[in-house]
Amino acid sequence: MKKTLIALYSNNKTLIMSVTCLGRIDKGESCSVSNCSSEAERSISADKVKSAGLKIGSDKRAYLCKEHYKEYKKKSKKDKLLDKWRHGM
Ligand SMILES: [Zn+2]
Repeated sequence: MKKTLIALYSNNKTLIMSVTCLGRIDKGESCSVSNCSSEAERSISADKVKSAGLKIGSDKRAYLCKEHYKEYKKKSKKDKLLDKWRHGM
């Protein structure tokens, strides 16, 4: 998974940074998204999750379950594309 993302965005330093920040987390945390109590799989900076439009609390780290992590990735990818268009890349 990591390798795929890095290959896809090898010319985008920001994204590579965010990929390397993603870490697997200890078992037992539950998803930070409101109304979701699934077991979390990933820990991501809360700011990033919020900017992807997911509703979470005010903690610094957000924990995402498999489904919400997928959703987060989808949405943040869309944002990156919009950013590219905005900057004429
Ligand atoms: Zn969730």
